[in-house]
Amino acid sequence: MRLFGLALLALLLPAATLSQPARPAPKLIVAISVDQFSADLWDEYRPTFAGGLARLARGTAYRNGYQGHAATETCPGHSTILTGSRPSRTGIIANNWFDLALTRSDKSVYCSEDERVPGSSSTHYTVSPMHLKVPTLGELMKRRDPASRNVAVAGKDRAAIMMGGHVTDQRWYWDGKTFVTDSTTAPVPKTLAAVNTAVAAAIAAPQAALVPPPLCTAKSRIVPIEGGGKPVGAGTFAHAAGDVRGFRASPQFDGAILALAASLFQEMQLGRGGATDLLSIGLSATDYVGHSYGTEGAEMCVQLLSLDRDLGDFLSLLDHSGVDYAVVLTADHGGQDIPERLREQGVANAARVDPALAASAVGKAIGARLGLAGPVLIGESSFGDIYLDRALKPAERARALAAAVAVYSAHPQVEAVYTKEQLRRTPSPTASPDKWSLIERARASFDQDRSGDFIVLLKSRITPIPDTRFYVATHGSPWDYDRRVPILFWRPGMAGAARDEAVETADIMPTLAAMIGLAIQPGSIDGKCLAGVEGTACPAR
Ligand SMILES: [Zn+2]
Repeated sequence: MRLFGLALLALLLPAATLSQPARPAPKLIVAISVDQFSADLWDEYRPTFAGGLARLARGTAYRNGYQGHAATETCPGHSTILTGSRPSRTGIIANNWFDLALTRSDKSVYCSEDERVPGSSSTHYTVSPMHLKVPTLGELMKRRDPASRNVAVAGKDRAAIMMGGHVTDQRWYWDGKTFVTDSTTAPVPKTLAAVNTAVAAAIAAPQAALVPPPLCTAKSRIVPIEGGGKPVGAGTFAHAAGDVRGFRASPQFDGAILALAASLFQEMQLGRGGATDLLSIGLSATDYVGHSYGTEGAEMCVQLLSLDRDLGDFLSLLDHSGVDYAVVLTADHGGQDIPERLREQGVANAARVDPALAASAVGKAIGARLGLAGPVLIGESSFGDIYLDRALKPAERARALAAAVAVYSAHPQVEAVYTKEQLRRTPSPTASPDKWSLIERARASFDQDRSGDFIVLLKSRITPIPDTRFYVATHGSPWDYDRRVPILFWRPGMAGAARDEAVETADIMPTLAAMIGLAIQPGSIDGKCLAGVEGTACPAR
């Protein structure tokens, strides 16, 4: 009767008076990014999770979170999670862009490098947060109270850099062999050596074939791959001794990252200081599994169930510490399956990209036709930002741009081409991210100084990997399979709420800020505080 009475009272009161009382600020915020964890995978596997992901599902769970921008890559995606801003404001428009004014021969710039350091290149780079144009939540927490610690651990340097920001107490990431840092001032954690030794031993040992759980066995089926790659789908993760790539694209990798995060939590006594601490964790294995095997085979199934179990263990460790903590989990972007398996499942338009769309190939063809010397076009791939060669004279540039736009626009695999001028004139989107037009998605990834002279967006379900010897599947498109990600908030005792409205990953930072009573300067970010997260008192707008 009492419960009924309370519910009736709630219905009778006007909504404004129903705002929840704010809980005391947590002593520790744990912000987790699962690289390439699409909302499609979340929707598919959510009923099967029993560990950490099942627990987070019982908090405030948004199944329609959006990395709303067009360039759905790791670096831009991670730059939105703890800054409250879209890539157009963070400046992180892609994993790599081109700076044709650079004096070094390599004009490609990696998002978290300092290209001013002699010897740095986009492939052998000097790690730095200098390209991130805005502060992160952890930095703002430290500005408010220097006792707050800002700690980042990830499988990729760009994830740790973009979630940690410019000022961190510790930041560690995998360099392909071991966990490293670019910090020269932070003391090396005592537990680091033990973690690195354990990981080295795991890599040195041959990995016997896993026996997938029954749910994943049902997905175990060998699928041949076009473009020279090996068939995928067995889901056994067997690899030879010393196979670092095999280790990285397996559940063991996330286990190692979580082990390092747990050891830093314990050694630094996070959540037990005078102010709220922030621990950000970039779990990268899901992305490597997706790239290596696709998203709908037994491999991804084993990966996600392992992640669920490992996250459960990690949260249990936090529980036993007695620290009052809050968790948010999201992804830097989504992903889609290999076209070969998608077609079997009835997605008739799934295909690999035509290699003739590569910027180098189109540039060469245009140059021959218009009598222009040099590469004419400079770009990483067949889509995204493409630049005109700076050696072209103004009249030649205009002809080359018009020709390039015409060639790309006429190709059956191309959805849209936007010039820099078109994007500059487009206002930043204000609607809910599920309603953004294509040019608005592109605008959210646009930076006047870093973006290409034009951008190419491929049609839905075109996989921009023609040569599959290294990777077979990817992300990076403006389509919802790459944009839509889960956003899960959890605190002990939080009443569950499964929410369907579309929200942005840029909304995470102001929501966490409200949770800890940190004021955000109006107009300084793109996101908005999510009043639907229980126990969060959003500031009046
Ligand atoms: Zn990726």
